[in-house]
Amino acid sequence: SAFVSLHNVNHAYGAGTALAVENLSIEVGEGEFAAVVGPSGCGKSTLMKLATGLQFPQSGSVTVAGDRVTKPVKIAGMAFQAPTLLPWRSTLENLLLPLEIVEPHRSEMRRRKVEFAARAKNLLASVGLRDQGDKFPWELSGGMQQRASLCRALIHEPKLLMLDEPFGALDAFTREELWCVIRDLQAARKITVILVTHDLREAVFLADRVFVMSSRPGRVIVERKIELPRPRD
Ligand code: ADP
Ligand code: ADP
Repeated sequence: SAFVSLHNVNHAYGAGTALAVENLSIEVGEGEFAAVVGPSGCGKSTLMKLATGLQFPQSGSVTVAGDRVTKPVKIAGMAFQAPTLLPWRSTLENLLLPLEIVEPHRSEMRRRKVEFAARAKNLLASVGLRDQGDKFPWELSGGMQQRASLCRALIHEPKLLMLDEPFGALDAFTREELWCVIRDLQAARKITVILVTHDLREAVFLADRVFVMSSRPGRVIVERKIELPRPRD
């Protein structure tokens, strides 16, 4: 059965406004890497918001891990096109943010401070940022900030990782380097990933399954399982 499922979902951003997505259905299995591609404005970000409980559909059903989505999904981590690190916090302190939201009690954060810091340092090391934890975002290159954002999305050990064009603002070289980083992280942790992109090559390189959406109102017009041998294999 599907880990993330949207079934016949219709959604508009206000009463009387046109639908942003119409009869949208997708199913993503546990541990699967899915990519959603389509032109700008076709509803890719809307799909992300619906799957993580940041928006609720006018009709249709959305379930994650068997539960109907009725509030923001805590088992999801998210990363976006622009790195969204807070400039007044060091890289390490930025990584701890999702934990402060999932573990809102200061006493619990204090008690597990060492454990959480160790987890953050391991993640930074896994993306080649071992020595950058004490730096501030403005001391890092764009690619390094994007890596740190990925780490932050993974810090609370999410079962589901939502990536909304996280490579879009990077140069081609850095982008392809990060593709390999994210593939390795996903394979090692068996996370379910949904990647939104308008780059078909990126989708085919990374994903086990690709959904193609049509323009407004957005719906899935093609679904393909990708079974190409991958360079990493
Ligand atoms: P994509 O991510 O594929 O570019 P979006 O999901 O952002 O597409 O947008 C789908 C449609 O919904 C677009 O027509 C867009 O204008 C509309 N839309 C998105 N967000 C909002 C919003 N907050 N308020 C009103 N309309 C929105
Ligand atoms: P990336 O491939 O991570 O985007 P760049 O090619 O931009 O990195 O930069 C190469 C190296 O230069 C980085 O590893 C970093 O140490 C350093 N660097 C780049 N931009 C900055 C910056 N704004 N501040 C400090 N160091 C930087």
